[in-house]
Amino acid sequence: MIQIARPEIVCYTDLTNEEGGGEPEPLLHRKGRPAAECEEGMEILYRSTRGDERVSASQAILRGLSGDGGLYVPERIPTLTKTPEELGQMDYREVAYEVMKLFFTDFSKEELQGCIEKAYDDKFDTEEIAPLAEAEGAFYLELFHGKTIAFKDMALSILPHLMITAAKKNRMDREIVILTATSGDTGKAALAGFADVPGTRIVVFYPKGGVSPVQEKQMVTQKGDNVLVVGIDGNFDDAQTGVKKLFADRELAAELEEAGFVFSSANSINIGRLVPQIVYYVYAYSRLAAEGRIKAGDPIHVTVPTGNFGNILAAFYAKNMGLPIARLLCASNENKVLYDFFQTGTYDRNREFILTSSPSMDILISSNLERLIFRLTGEDPARTAELMAALANGGRYEITEEMRERLGDFYGGYAKEEEAFRKIRSLYEETGYVIDTHTAVAAAVYDAYRKESGDKTPTVIASTASPFKFTRSVMRAIDGKYGDASFDDFELADELSALANVPVPRAIEEIRTAPVLHHTQCAKDGMKDVVRRFLGQE
Ligand SMILES: *Cc1c(COP(=O)(O)O)cnc(C)c1O
Repeated sequence: MIQIARPEIVCYTDLTNEEGGGEPEPLLHRKGRPAAECEEGMEILYRSTRGDERVSASQAILRGLSGDGGLYVPERIPTLTKTPEELGQMDYREVAYEVMKLFFTDFSKEELQGCIEKAYDDKFDTEEIAPLAEAEGAFYLELFHGKTIAFKDMALSILPHLMITAAKKNRMDREIVILTATSGDTGKAALAGFADVPGTRIVVFYPKGGVSPVQEKQMVTQKGDNVLVVGIDGNFDDAQTGVKKLFADRELAAELEEAGFVFSSANSINIGRLVPQIVYYVYAYSRLAAEGRIKAGDPIHVTVPTGNFGNILAAFYAKNMGLPIARLLCASNENKVLYDFFQTGTYDRNREFILTSSPSMDILISSNLERLIFRLTGEDPARTAELMAALANGGRYEITEEMRERLGDFYGGYAKEEEAFRKIRSLYEETGYVIDTHTAVAAAVYDAYRKESGDKTPTVIASTASPFKFTRSVMRAIDGKYGDASFDDFELADELSALANVPVPRAIEEIRTAPVLHHTQCAKDGMKDVVRRFLGQE
């Protein structure tokens, strides 16, 4: 993990004690920041969910994970300072700035705007960045218009820029080595984000056989002198556990420090990924209000196809910022750990791992849930650490009745394979709109919720991948004949294009003919050697 000197303390404020009473707390403060801003109490520090460590936003971004194994959370969630009407007049980049400036308080305006402009540019195939499509009364928030046609682009387009800026601010001159475990989409989005970014290298581990052929092709064709892609013998949780072990390996860290490297993470636990995800909920709400589809101030629900719990947590943070989100519908596929957790208060990963056609949600340990757990404990790091230790040791933990009561805004649902497939087909047949397999899980869960509750509150469904990313499953859902192995993936993409009346995205066109550049494979316990070799440590 990155170790950086603490910033100098230059001012004190009592605004961290809004809850009342107590001694004024010193705020760590970046040297040279205008005192006025300091007095306004704008500074937000990040604390570990498992201990007392507190760092600035830029340090939290650089470190990824806290030294005690906990995740960084903002000490308090800032309130939106602009109304939906004002935000409704802004483009995506401007909304991004309005949200991020409240969280990344040690970045200057120029730094933050610079990062935003480099991230949300013509890499995206639409000026809107995250457009909304209405179908059958629901609003699909299309988060797949970036380089890799899946929602992780939204955060991973900006993370490298936030990291480099953070490194400069903290006078950190070692080369940043990103280690990432992927269930398919993160890997490519991280590779695309970091490829050839000076001062960085990236190693991506994916479960061999556990990602779609298109996902695999996207990764193994990745160009860039600073990238390595590795297929491992195991599932996503094995990959993630392996990466965590590498991060915790002090011997390795010391060896690499000597050689001028430092590890960091681009996984969804990094606060530099979480915060950019808050933006699109704020953007979606203000667009709906600006277009008169809802009245500003009226509640909406959001439905999120969930795996690692990052995307839905961002919606929860948006709600805590004052965005009128009433309910958060957490949609799982057949790996329904989260559904069971919301039902029973017990999180239990001891179960069969099921490979589904929504592989980015095939996850039994939802890392970001720890941030919610921390909130449920009343921000008690010791209690959170205990629960996470129980998860690590016995694979399960149980929360108290009191904690469960704080879950009120969440609703857990899940959809079986055939339900998601049926949804893809019926939506296409009714409206001509085609959604991917992950989005279909969310849409099916939303349908079931609406039927069961009769609740007609306008709802935004996070549409997390382009149907062209999971073409085979999507086409098979629409018509069984496409299940025939004689169709290759690119033929299917052409068929889908004709059927949905949408051009084949650039991301797919590019890999049609691209050569495979990465052939590395390893066993679960071979990950360390692979990394050492890549960094020239033999
Ligand atoms: C990663 C991913 C998800 C799950 O998002 P989390 O933030 O991990 O909950 C859903 N759909 C797609 C397409 C994804 O890539």
